[in-house]
Amino acid sequence: METQELSVNISSEIEKPTKTAVLDLSAQQIWQDCLNILRNKLSNLNFKTWIEPIVPLRIEQNNFFLQVPSPFFFEWIEEHFYKTINDSLAQAYGKEIPVQYIISQDEDALNENLSPVPSVFSSPRVDETNVPRVSNNQISITPKPQFESGLNPKYKFDHYVKGESNQFALAAALAVANNPGGTSFNPLVVYGGVGLGKTHLVQSIGNQVVRSGKPTRVLYISSEKFTVDFVDAIQKNNIADFSNFYGNIDLLIVDDIQFFAGKEKTQDYFFHIFNALHQQGKQIVLSCDRSPKELKGLNDRLISRFQWGLTTDVQPPDLETRIAILKAKSSTENIEISHEVIEFVASNVTTNIRELEGCLIGITARASLEKRVIDIDLAKDVIRSVIGEFRTHITIEDIQRLVSQQFCIPEDLLRGKTRKQEVVTPRQIAMYLSKELTNSSLNTIGLHFGGRDHSTVIHAYQTVEDNMKNDAKHRQLVLSLKSKLESRL
Ligand code: ADP
Ligand code: MG
Repeated sequence: METQELSVNISSEIEKPTKTAVLDLSAQQIWQDCLNILRNKLSNLNFKTWIEPIVPLRIEQNNFFLQVPSPFFFEWIEEHFYKTINDSLAQAYGKEIPVQYIISQDEDALNENLSPVPSVFSSPRVDETNVPRVSNNQISITPKPQFESGLNPKYKFDHYVKGESNQFALAAALAVANNPGGTSFNPLVVYGGVGLGKTHLVQSIGNQVVRSGKPTRVLYISSEKFTVDFVDAIQKNNIADFSNFYGNIDLLIVDDIQFFAGKEKTQDYFFHIFNALHQQGKQIVLSCDRSPKELKGLNDRLISRFQWGLTTDVQPPDLETRIAILKAKSSTENIEISHEVIEFVASNVTTNIRELEGCLIGITARASLEKRVIDIDLAKDVIRSVIGEFRTHITIEDIQRLVSQQFCIPEDLLRGKTRKQEVVTPRQIAMYLSKELTNSSLNTIGLHFGGRDHSTVIHAYQTVEDNMKNDAKHRQLVLSLKSKLESRL
């Protein structure tokens, strides 16, 4: 699609959602196309809650300015929809365009302030100046500031609520932050399920060390990004620079190391970096979605290195901690919500702190969009939809468990090597469901089924698909397993 240079300011004609804000017509049109793309990519609930409230403002100096209702809203979309929005906008615009978010908490004030155009801050250094600046009711943020350290300054120990479920991990993290490389907790490995605060905790270590003002080079990186950078360095023949860069880090934080599974070369290389840093007394902090020992596809020598330090877990929070987290979050976000509703949410959303936060923000968003009071009924509606949305995390283990129950065969046979037909068919069905219902790659799925490679998974998938087409009973069986898994959510 061609970019339109023509930029027409219109005012009162635009009804939704900012009645009198000065909007740029070309930005409006492009955003409309973008909305059509996003509608197909996101669930209805996500689209309504997180995309519809966004107002396109203008295109200026090759930046696309979007207005969002609150800092929390911004953080949420940045964390969950950053790439989806950017990709869809690039598709609608015809090429990539950086997105700048303007946060407005008060529409009237915004309208007054919109002319002249508010400035956008971009301050890509790690210090307090990265915190969104507030001027009257308006905050401007450049998303994803590229800190040298990769840290997000919002993750601090101050905002981390302590509870029985995380107190040991928190104490270890504090000890490391106060004396990086100087404790026996090297490496510090924090593991636990999704949304339980691992990223928050490991980033808090980094942020505290950065803030201590000591000349320490801190790097936070996800294992996925590390892998991509590593492959890139090999392809561009830059491996010397890559090594040099990692060799000079004082505190290396690698998040979600489960994504190293099955990536032999990356693991080998990481092993060398690990050794080099550890020998120099540099601190290493890692997170993982399960105990590294249980991680399939991770090299034994890497696992044994991890055991040099401390491995500690974070558990799902108990009721008191969940209440405390909701209270802390509503107070920092200035959300007025009664103790009764907080307790109701905390009692019903039990497994994941990200879900808890999602419900709180969903309740506020729904209350303001639908002009409803925040009460138990509203909370019920939101919990139902948010939990449904979140629990799309079916794991391969869930699938293996259900399939083995259904066919009355032990789970380890499913994961094993046997080629007996009574095992092969259920195994193929389990692989098929894993591809359909999880985000795991073919390689990862193969690893969970006795270390098979991706071509075996593709073969299994095609076999099940063919069988479903040709055999109504088979089809019914697979579909009923699928709906059982989905309805458990
Ligand atoms: P994980 O990395 O384990 O998937 P995150 O660290 O991303 O989880 O946490 C999910 C959300 O829950 C984040 O917004 C985080 O700030 C919040 N959170 C997690 N644990 C706590 C806690 N103990 N106190 C306050 N907020 C928390
Ligand atoms: Mg995380």
